[in-house]
Amino acid sequence: MTDLHRLSVRELTEGLAAAKFSSRELTEHYLKRIEKIDARVQSYVTVTAEQALAEADAADALRKAGGATVLTGVPIAHKDIFCTHGIKTTAGSKMLDNFISPYDATVVAKGKVAGLVTLGKVNMDEFAMGSTSESSYFGATANPWALDHVPGGSSGGSAAAVAADLAPFATGTDTGGSIRQPASFCGLTGLKPTYGRVSRFGMIAYASSLDQGGPMARSAEDCAYLMNVMAGHDAKDSTSVEKNVDDYVANLNGTSVKGLRIGIPKQYFNTAGLDADVKARVEESLKKLEEMGATLVEIDLNMTESYVPTYYLIAPAEASSNLSRFDGVRYGYRAENPVDLMDLYKRSRSEGFGKEVQQRILIGTYALSAGYYDAYYVKAQKVRRLIQQDFLKAFETVDVIAAPSAPTTAYRIGANLSQVEMYLGDIYTIAVNLAGLPAINAPVGFDKDSLPVGLQLIGNYWSESQLLSVVHQYQQATDWHTKRAAIAEENA
Ligand code: GLN
Repeated sequence: MTDLHRLSVRELTEGLAAAKFSSRELTEHYLKRIEKIDARVQSYVTVTAEQALAEADAADALRKAGGATVLTGVPIAHKDIFCTHGIKTTAGSKMLDNFISPYDATVVAKGKVAGLVTLGKVNMDEFAMGSTSESSYFGATANPWALDHVPGGSSGGSAAAVAADLAPFATGTDTGGSIRQPASFCGLTGLKPTYGRVSRFGMIAYASSLDQGGPMARSAEDCAYLMNVMAGHDAKDSTSVEKNVDDYVANLNGTSVKGLRIGIPKQYFNTAGLDADVKARVEESLKKLEEMGATLVEIDLNMTESYVPTYYLIAPAEASSNLSRFDGVRYGYRAENPVDLMDLYKRSRSEGFGKEVQQRILIGTYALSAGYYDAYYVKAQKVRRLIQQDFLKAFETVDVIAAPSAPTTAYRIGANLSQVEMYLGDIYTIAVNLAGLPAINAPVGFDKDSLPVGLQLIGNYWSESQLLSVVHQYQQATDWHTKRAAIAEENA
C-alpha cells in the first residue's frame, strides 16, 4: 500500500488487527517517507530506523502469538524532551547534544508497553523555551504548509512531523502553549492535559509547576488513542495525580454539544494584535458549534493583562532552578581545558546554552535572589492565584471557554520578532498553564495565505474527555482536520 500514511490511528489499529498490513510494512513506509521528505521539513533530530524495525517485528510477532493490544505496532515520534533509553535526548540544546539517557521517561515506557514503535525524536525549541522551534541548536524546522514559515514551538518538530505525514501522531509538552500553538500553526489537534494527569518523570524540566505532556495528532480521535497511553498516576512523579483515568476513545461521544455552554471572554476577542483572519475563522467555528446546539455566553476574564508578566516571571524563575543541574560535571556539554571549577561551570554553561535560555536563566535568577524574591516571585505567585480564580469563577456559568490558540498564524522563518512580540504571541495559552487547566486546539480553517488557524477550548480540571469529545463531534460535522499540506500528499 502506498497510502498508509493517510490512515487515521483508528484505521491503523483496524488494519493491523485485520492483518491488512504488518507493523513492519507500516514502519518501513514511514521511514521511507522520512528519508524522502524530512530533508525539507527537518522535523526529526534523530531517526531510529534500526530500532524501529526491530520493535515493529516484535509487535508483529506479538500479534501472531495473540498478545497484541489495540496500538501494538503503531509508529510514533517523541519530542526530544522525553528521555529515551539508549537513544540520544537533546532537548534541542548543544548542552545535551551527546546525552544518552540511561532510562525511559514514563511516557516513553508506557508507549513501549502499549506496543508503539518509536520512529525517532523530533525537534523543539531549546529546553522548550520559544514559540518557533528556531532556538533549537539543530536548526529550524519548516512548517509543512509553507516551508519558509515556522511550525510554531516549542513542540514544532512534533507538529511538523505529523502535518507532513512523517508520523501518525507524536508526543508534545506544553508549559505555556507548546502543544496548542504548534498544533494551531500546523493544522493539527493537540491536547494539553490538566496538570498532574500525565507523568513528568523523564521529561526534561523547564518550569516544573507548568510543564505537562500531551498528544498531538490530526484529530481528537487520534489524540484520544495516545491520551489513553500517556495519562495516569506515576509513583515517580510526586505531582502526578492518583485519579482514575477515563477511556478517552470510548468517551469520544460522551459529551453532547447540544446544550453545551461555551464562554467567550470579551477580553480575548478585543486584543490588539489579534489577526483579522484568525478572529474570523475562530468566530465561524463558534457559529458552527452554535448550530450544533451549543450556547455562546459572553464572559469576563479580567486578569488577561497580567498573563504575560506573570508567566514570564514564574517560568524563568523555575527554569533558572531546573537548569542549574547542567554544570558540565556529570553529564552534558563540558568546556575544554578548564583552569578551575568556576571556569568549568562558567564556560560549560555559556558555551552549552543558547541565547534565549541564558536570558531566561538570568531573569529567573534575578527574580529569585534575596531582596527581590518577595517583590517579584511571591507577587507573581499571588497574581497566579487570581488568574486561576478568574477561570474558576467563569466555570460556574460555562462548561468550556473558547479562544484562539494564537493571535496570528505561523511566522516566517527568521522573522526575528522582538522578544516582547514573541511573548505576546503566548497571550491565549499561558494562563491555562498558570491555572493548571486542560485545553485543546482544533484546526478551523485557513488565513488569506492558506496558513492554518486554530480554535482553543479550555476546560475545567480533569475535563480531557469532554474537550476531546466536543472537538470530535465538531470534526464529525466539518472537514478542516482532514486537510493536508501539499508535502504530505507526496508519495515516497
Ligand atoms: N512560548 C512559551 C515559552 O517560551 C511556551 C513554551 C512552552 O510551552 N514550552 O515559554
